[in-house]
Amino acid sequence: MLTAFADKTAARIVGICTVVLVVLTASAGIAWAAYTDNMYPTQYANGGCISEEPNARQATCRTDNATLTYYMDSGGDFELETPDKDDVRATMSNDYNPTDLSVSYDSTPSFSGSAETDIIYQEGSADIPSSVDGMTWCNNASNLDECDQQFVRIRGAGYYSRGLACHETGHAVGLVHGSVSSPIKSNTDSRLGCMVTPVGTNTSLGDNNIENINNTY
Ligand SMILES: [Zn+2]
Repeated sequence: MLTAFADKTAARIVGICTVVLVVLTASAGIAWAAYTDNMYPTQYANGGCISEEPNARQATCRTDNATLTYYMDSGGDFELETPDKDDVRATMSNDYNPTDLSVSYDSTPSFSGSAETDIIYQEGSADIPSSVDGMTWCNNASNLDECDQQFVRIRGAGYYSRGLACHETGHAVGLVHGSVSSPIKSNTDSRLGCMVTPVGTNTSLGDNNIENINNTY
């Protein structure tokens, strides 16, 4: 299903970053030839990583190192059904594992300490704004840029797809929308791969995102 993915967080980030832009420009001028720098922090997305509740996402973060562990809820209120899990596995095997990230499934997830499981996938609509299909938030910020554990929550009843899982996972590893990339691109620019919004059901990571990931991790 193609959906009206209107990520309100982008608008918030733009507003926040307009204010802090003058103070934080250290990320500008990274010397590589990517189509655009859409890896947090960018010139336009640099508000600082903070620990948040699911309904309050104001910040963008990136995962804390190249070892990317993930878990998919297998019970409780946010359980993923088999097709949803297949979509997450599809983006991990086709999109993220071929990058410089080292991706592995953590069947015994850790929710405390200094090395928590990096991404927890959930299915559900609790605390998701009505115009949003999925969201990613940091539960435990490590520092100004990095997060030890992030949650991805995507609505049930057919909203999970490889493309949307790729998009939300992208946020977890630090990728941002075109509107806060440097240089700024349209949110629908196809060269943003699965970071376009709205995103197609089978959209892949794409060269620009891969280049930004591999230059970061
Ligand atoms: Zn998004």
